[in-house]
Amino acid sequence: MSSNQSPYSWLEKSLLTIHNANWYRSVTAISGLDGTVVELSGLTAINFASNNYLGLAGDERLIQAAVAAIQEYGTGSTGSRLLSGHRQLHRELEQEIASLKQTEDSIVFSSGYLANLGTISAIVGQKDLILGDLYNHSSLKKGAKLSGATVIDYLHCDVNDLEQKLLQHRSQYRRCLITTDSVFSMDGDLCPLPDLIALASEMNCMLLLDEAHATGVMGTTGAGCVEHFNCTGAELIQIGTLSKALGSLGGYVAGNAHLIDFLRNRAATWIYTTGLSPADTAAALAAIEIIKSEPERKDKLWNNINYLKDKLPQDNLLPSESPIICLVLDAPETALTIADKLQQAGIFAPAIRPPTVPTSRLRFSVMATHQLEHLEKLVNSLSTIL
Ligand SMILES: *Cc1c(COP(=O)(O)O)cnc(C)c1O
Repeated sequence: MSSNQSPYSWLEKSLLTIHNANWYRSVTAISGLDGTVVELSGLTAINFASNNYLGLAGDERLIQAAVAAIQEYGTGSTGSRLLSGHRQLHRELEQEIASLKQTEDSIVFSSGYLANLGTISAIVGQKDLILGDLYNHSSLKKGAKLSGATVIDYLHCDVNDLEQKLLQHRSQYRRCLITTDSVFSMDGDLCPLPDLIALASEMNCMLLLDEAHATGVMGTTGAGCVEHFNCTGAELIQIGTLSKALGSLGGYVAGNAHLIDFLRNRAATWIYTTGLSPADTAAALAAIEIIKSEPERKDKLWNNINYLKDKLPQDNLLPSESPIICLVLDAPETALTIADKLQQAGIFAPAIRPPTVPTSRLRFSVMATHQLEHLEKLVNSLSTIL
């Protein structure tokens, strides 16, 4: 078989379609440390685009911990944790996460994405059912697909819809797993956790909660939405990342000892990949230490969140109970234009568009280290542009 067309020529056409829909994305380089003020494309801008909620990614103590770990253990973990890649540092981090989460144990993965893929595909299979929130993060959706289980989405945060679907389908399957973000990453709202826990228990389902945007941010001690909703101790599979409020890189699963032991034996994205690097591990450990000893960082974050939620144009705001605040706009072009104008005014906030979300929006991430003048500038620039 031969043809004049290269087997790769479809790529160019696909990219053209993406451009035409205004869905095309590319990267923006930030120079220097990630902080509240960043350098991008030669311009200085106030940063409302970072998941570095507590401002720890550039913290001197995390940097020093990472440097010390590199000097002690080197740059790479050099192997799978089960073979040659395990260090005492990994275990210390896992114990600290379990202590923060008040669970029996935890396990760290190389990223939150891999934690979700590996966990979901290890605990359910072809005989099983997954019910996921329609707005779940990509890693939960891809993990569900990878598992081979039957996957049904329920309407966003809609416990009645979930219950209906469980009543209709649950009995035809062996195990059932409900999956949800705790803080929804592109909307900023929270899942109805107490109702989900009750329903999961009633219908004999496991419940997997993705605390990526909640760890370090929600709850009195920063343990996440489980703590925020007073559900600490409920039997759950809690997943999170070390890359957002913790300022490092990596993911974790926290839960009971059998779950974690099982994952060490069955989660392919943990078994067949290199252990978390010493630097990332040490930085995350240092971050947890700071979260414990400096609760005022989280309090400052919440003061900033409340200030902005109060001052931004209320009509366009999506309901949010987190540092993620979204302003809904009518079309991808509008979102892009406003994001561009904000950038010219010295404010960095991304336009989030389909297919990531159903409706276009500007997404602002608040940090504990934003100063009042940063927040004021955002409010004033936005009101001028709109
Ligand atoms: C960011 C995020 C992840 C992925 O975490 P990484 O450590 O960045 O791979 C998973 N789930 C949710 C909800 C997220 O927001």
